[in-house]
Amino acid sequence: MTNDDYDVVVVGGGPCGSTVATLVAMQGHRVLLLEKERFPRYQIGESLLPSTVHGICRILGIEEDLRQANFMPKRGGTFRWGANPEPWTFSFGLSAKFAGEAATAYQVERMRFDQILLDNARRKGVEVREETSVVDVLTDADSDRVDGVLISGADGVRREIRGRFVVDASGNKSRIHTRVGGQRRYSEFFRNLALFGYFEGGKRLPAPNRGNILAAAFEAGWFWYIPLTEELTSVGAVLLPEALDRAQGDRERALLDLIAQCPLIAEYLADARRVTEGPYGEIRVRKDYSYIQEKFWRPGLVLAGDAACFIDPVFSSGVHLATYSALLAARSINTVLRGGVDETTCFEEFELRYRREYARFHDFLVAFYDMHQDENSYFWKAKKVTNNAASEVESFVELVGGGSSNEAALVAPGRYGRRDAAYQELAAAVEQPVREAGEDRDLLRTELARSVSKEGTRIQIQAELGESLDENAPVRDGGLVPSADGLHWSMPSEPVG
Ligand code: FAD
Repeated sequence: MTNDDYDVVVVGGGPCGSTVATLVAMQGHRVLLLEKERFPRYQIGESLLPSTVHGICRILGIEEDLRQANFMPKRGGTFRWGANPEPWTFSFGLSAKFAGEAATAYQVERMRFDQILLDNARRKGVEVREETSVVDVLTDADSDRVDGVLISGADGVRREIRGRFVVDASGNKSRIHTRVGGQRRYSEFFRNLALFGYFEGGKRLPAPNRGNILAAAFEAGWFWYIPLTEELTSVGAVLLPEALDRAQGDRERALLDLIAQCPLIAEYLADARRVTEGPYGEIRVRKDYSYIQEKFWRPGLVLAGDAACFIDPVFSSGVHLATYSALLAARSINTVLRGGVDETTCFEEFELRYRREYARFHDFLVAFYDMHQDENSYFWKAKKVTNNAASEVESFVELVGGGSSNEAALVAPGRYGRRDAAYQELAAAVEQPVREAGEDRDLLRTELARSVSKEGTRIQIQAELGESLDENAPVRDGGLVPSADGLHWSMPSEPVG
C-alpha cells in the first residue's frame, strides 16, 4: 500500500460524504474525503428531519455539537396548502417513533452544519482534502472495476489516487455519476424551479411552533419560509412549470413580486429587510433538481445523496435521503471490507433500501401536489404509500419525519442508544489489538471479529437490553438486515454479525 492507496475515497464533503466517510473510518478503515470547495461554503437544504438529527447524527456522535450550535429547534411544519384555506400544523411528536427529545429537529445554516459534520469526520480519522476536485474515476483495465480517482488539487496538478471503493457524494453537480452506468432520469412530474433569498426581521409563528417550517401554496407554486435564527429567515419560491417565466429578468424584482402574490408570506415579511451582503446576499435559482440515476452502483463505485437522486424541497427529504443513503453505503462497504458477505449482495441491499425510501417520498409528494385535496386526504395517502398499520396522521408524521423505513438506527434513540453502548463496549475489545497491529489490521480484524463468539455477544447484548435483536426483518427474500451496531449487514439468521 502506498500513501495514495485508501480503503475508501469519498468524493464530496456535504452531509452525505461526511457521513459515509465517518461511518467507515469509525471501523478503522483508511478513508480519504475530497472536497472541491474550502469550507465553510454555502448550500441550500436547511430544514432537517428527526431521522437525521436523532438517528444519523447520534451515530456520528455529534448530537452535543448540534446542541452547542444553537440551531433553531423545529417541532414540525405549518402548511397553508390544499383545499383547506386555513393553515394546518403537524408536530413530529404525533408519532410514537419521535417521542420525547426526538420530536424536535433543527433548521440549520448549512455552512455551519456541514462544517460540524466535516470536522467530526476529521476527528474520527478521515483524511480530508479541501480545494481538491475529482475529475474522473480510474478503472482497472482487466476487471473493469473502479479502483480510484483522478484529482486536480489547488495547484491544478492532476494526480491519481487509488481506493478499494469510491463513493460519489458530490451532489447534483457530480462530474462522475455517469461512470456508474445508465443515465440520470429527470422527473416528468417535478419540473419546478426555485428562486430564493434571505430576510432579516421576518415574523415568527406563535410559540411553541416558532421554529416550524412554514409552507404556503399560491397560484404559481409555493413558498418555503424557514426561520434559521431569531433574525434570519430563508425564503424561497418553488414555481410550477407553467409559471417558470415569472422567475425571468431581475431576480430581486421577481422574488419580491412573487412574495406580493402570496398573502401569508407577504404578511410574514411585511417588516423584514432582504439580506444583500455576504453569502446570504445573493438571490439564487435552482432548477433541474428532480432526477434519479438508473443505477446506483457498479463494482468499486457507489452513488449516494444528491449524486444518485433528489425529489423536491417540500418536506425537506434531501438531507434525510443523503444521510440515510450514506448509512446504507457505509454498511455495505464495512461489510465487504470485513469479509463474509460478497459485494453484490451488500450493494443490492443498499440500492433496494435506498430506492424504497426514495419511492415512498416520491409517491407521496406526487399526491401532495394535488392542491384540490385537504390534509386528511394527504394523511391517508401517506398511510397508503408506507403500508403502515398506524393511524393516517401518524403514518404521515412518520413519513415526513424520515421514520417510515422502520430502521431502529433512524427512529428509536433510546433503544438504539442502549444497544449501541452495549455493542461499543464489546467492539472495543476487538478494536484495541487491531489498532496496535498497524498495516495488517484488516486481516487481524477479520480474524478477531470471527473469534468473538457471535452467539455469546448476542446473548450479552440481549441481556443488557432486554429485547430481541431480530426486530429488523429482511425487506426481501434472502435479503440482509442491519447488524446490532447498525454499521454492517448481517444474514437474518445471525443478527449480531
Ligand atoms: P451536497 O450537499 O450538494 O454536497 C456535495 C459536495 O460535493 C459539495 O460540498 C461540493 O462542493 C462537492 N463536490 C462537487 N463536485 C465535486 C468534485 N468534482 N470533487 C470534489 N468535491 C465535489 N434538503 C433538506 O433536507 N431540507 C431542505 O429544506 C431542502 N431544501 C432544498 C431546496 C432546494 C431549492 C433544493 C434544490 C434542494 C433542497 N434540499 C433540501 C436538498 C439538499 O440541498 C440536498 O439534498 C443535500 O444537500 C444533499 O447532500 P449531499 O451531501 O448529497 O450533496
